[in-house]
Amino acid sequence: MSRLRSGQWLALTAGGLVLAALVGIAITLLMLQRLGDARVQVVDRVDPARVAAQVYITALVNEETGVRGYASGGTDDFLAPYRQGSKDAVTARARLDAVVASGKVPRLAENLQAVGLASTTWHLLYADPVILIVGREGKDSKNVPSLDQGKGLFDQVRGAFGQLQADLVAERASARTKLRHAATAATWSGLLTALLILAAAAVAALVLRRTIANPLSRLARDARRVARGEFEHPVAITGPRDIQGLSTDVESMRRRILAELEVVNDARAQLEEQTRDLQRSNAELEQFAYVASHDLQEPLRKVASFTGMLQHRYQGQLDERADQYIEFAVDGAKRMQVLINDLLAFSRVGRLGAERALVSMDDAAADALKNLAAAIEESGAHVDVADLPVVRGDRSLLGALLQNLIGNAIKFRSDGMTPEIRVRAVRGEKDYVFTVSDNGIGIAPRHAERIFVIFQRLHPKEEFTGTGIGLAMGRKIVEFHGGQIWLDRDESASEVDDATGHGSTFRFTLPIPDDDESDPTP
Ligand code: ADP
Repeated sequence: MSRLRSGQWLALTAGGLVLAALVGIAITLLMLQRLGDARVQVVDRVDPARVAAQVYITALVNEETGVRGYASGGTDDFLAPYRQGSKDAVTARARLDAVVASGKVPRLAENLQAVGLASTTWHLLYADPVILIVGREGKDSKNVPSLDQGKGLFDQVRGAFGQLQADLVAERASARTKLRHAATAATWSGLLTALLILAAAAVAALVLRRTIANPLSRLARDARRVARGEFEHPVAITGPRDIQGLSTDVESMRRRILAELEVVNDARAQLEEQTRDLQRSNAELEQFAYVASHDLQEPLRKVASFTGMLQHRYQGQLDERADQYIEFAVDGAKRMQVLINDLLAFSRVGRLGAERALVSMDDAAADALKNLAAAIEESGAHVDVADLPVVRGDRSLLGALLQNLIGNAIKFRSDGMTPEIRVRAVRGEKDYVFTVSDNGIGIAPRHAERIFVIFQRLHPKEEFTGTGIGLAMGRKIVEFHGGQIWLDRDESASEVDDATGHGSTFRFTLPIPDDDESDPTP
């Protein structure tokens, strides 16, 4: 079954069908041929022979009547039927001889010969002498042969003809039987041929179904299941050679997909595990930062307050070096307190149940400016806050964000320049985009990402104070509210210098609240 291709199977079954049809048609043609032969025997030979025989005997009887009349009447008129009979006899005999020539009517030749012989004898011994003697000597001449003699001779003719007729009747009966049998055989062979072709067609349909249609529909079923995503379902390899080839291709495609899917699934599982690990370690880290900063606060407060008291009480009582040491300790403890407070604030963002109320960013900015009042006054900064929109979020976190950005803008001011700080917002498609820009020392574009990483600072603490937590916390606050924050890259800034001198522009987005009614943006 597997050696052949479907085209070969088709050719094979079509060949079988044609062969069956050819055999059936050949048999039917043979039967029709026999039927034709039998019909020719009856219609073209036996029946014309019978008619001609009848004409022949009638002509001979006419001859005999004519001669007898002549013998008794003596006038020439009586010879007319004789002469007509002679003519007719010749014509009929010719027709019968034609049938004899076919050689297909048995005993016709012998019978005709016998009739001819009897007729010739009658002519020679009776008719010819009667015509000759009556013509010459008159009817009453005693030389005229007797009527009885003529009758006796003609009875020979009748006897031979009787045999001829009987044989012809028998032959006709046998020919008609053959004709009937041939007709029946032809009908049956036609029917059988039709049945044979039908049976061959049924067998061909069965063979094609088993060898081509079934394997094809099985392949289609399997392929459809695989296409629907049942990659575990194997594709059966059956049928003729070409369908097997196709099935093998589909099967190997399925195996490849399965293998690749396994790789993808493994990678996904790995990724999910890594994500889980990352989330776990992130949570642990935040927990650790919170716990550490929280728990460190207490002992640190003690260190700060006692070193403070030490300084306060014993300033000037020890030597100068001791005073300096104590001052370092006080300063260190203070900085550590700031650091820990910032860290605590950082780790608190998003941890404690922050509020999600409608917050006017104008109010949040006012809070920030109030907290920064001392720095603003000391630096003489101009802070210009235009109408800011209302967003949904936590007022204290958003205030802290603005405080960090404005505080940095004041802190990182250019020497000898009055800080000019602008806080703006524009409405985008889904978000408000806020901008905090200053005319300070600026930030080189290559640090645009680094500055948002916790503890990352671009300057030593002697130059600018700080913990490096502000922007990291700013990013955390913005992302917590569903927005993004970035440093606007100053394209004219040098990649080498940390400070560009062109000032910095920070931008961040916050989603527009669904139930926003006010639109304070210009
Ligand atoms: P901190 O202010 O405590 O140093 P931040 O996280 O707030 O830490 O800022 C990180 C660094 O980014 C700062 O040390 C500073 O170098 C740079 N930076 C932040 N804001 C500005 C600004 N407005 N102008 C110039 N540099 C800035």
